[in-house]
Amino acid sequence: MEIKKIYFDMDGVLADFARGVREICRLEPISQNAKNNDSAKEDRMWNAIRDAGHFYDKLELMPGAKEMFDELYNRYGDKCEILTGIPKPKRGIDSAGDDKKAWVKRLLSDKIKVNIVYREEKARFCTGKDCILIDDFTKNIREWEAMGGTGILNNSSGETMAELEKLGILGKSNIVLTGMPASGKSTVGVILAKMLGKDFLDTDLVIQQREHALLCEIIEQRGVDAFLKSEEEAALSISPVNTVIATGGSVVYSEKAMQYLSGIATVIYLKADKDEITRRLRNIKERGVVLKDGENFDDMYDHRCVLYEKYADIVIEEDGSGIEGTIGKIILSCNKRKERYQIHGCT
Ligand SMILES: [Mg+2]
Repeated sequence: MEIKKIYFDMDGVLADFARGVREICRLEPISQNAKNNDSAKEDRMWNAIRDAGHFYDKLELMPGAKEMFDELYNRYGDKCEILTGIPKPKRGIDSAGDDKKAWVKRLLSDKIKVNIVYREEKARFCTGKDCILIDDFTKNIREWEAMGGTGILNNSSGETMAELEKLGILGKSNIVLTGMPASGKSTVGVILAKMLGKDFLDTDLVIQQREHALLCEIIEQRGVDAFLKSEEEAALSISPVNTVIATGGSVVYSEKAMQYLSGIATVIYLKADKDEITRRLRNIKERGVVLKDGENFDDMYDHRCVLYEKYADIVIEEDGSGIEGTIGKIILSCNKRKERYQIHGCT
């Protein structure tokens, strides 16, 4: 999708309004999305906000909001704008607009355009499907979509990022895990998929399904070259969306397959040292590990390392961090990869 504009709501998307009410005003915040709001409680909240003075400039960022904002702003620049509502004049919070502008300037960017409007005016900024509104108020999303725009209801920065990925606005939605046999690609992959709300695919299983044989049987009965061929074909046969893909360790020998996978996914190399892999690989043959003619384990390790590095968008050093630690590292470095978003990016 070609993007024309991305509008960020402020309160509940970038700024933590609810927490501000709780901590600055010492009141239970009223949710805009609640069915029946009590007007006496509402009055009390707005009065407290007014009395707090410069309330909007005192707010904290929503969790993950800065990261989400930076990802989009770095990639889309001037196409990003803030579109935020201010309370009606009867609430007497006269500095709201200026406070919001000051807050954006201080915490997000001093260049981004900040549109200050009354809530009902938001939808008139919408000029079509290529206009995106990220907002936490269901009513705003509904009105935006009624004007033909694309609305994203922000429940959390993480979910919004996932939604943006699905729409192709932010990054590639697939992750490919590469690395030595026993580096943990399948184990890590399944858990990573659960944590990121993605599907999981193991190309070793795709090979077994396509060939109706176990990996070790294919290698033993048909030889290494035939196996590599079917591994390449299996990789080229998949067209995943929003999926974590664990690959067989030897797919890296196929330039064609690796180029295809690089095109559809962020490639993450799980790097474990030779001793660790040796320890984990008790029986190489049963696992269907590919050793080329005359190659021993050391040769294979050295040869493949170069290739894994070559195709990796991200290298994760396992360094004995265990499954959970490795997953943590993956998520962290995915979040850090801002400048790589110029093509499509990562989760
Ligand atoms: Mg809001």
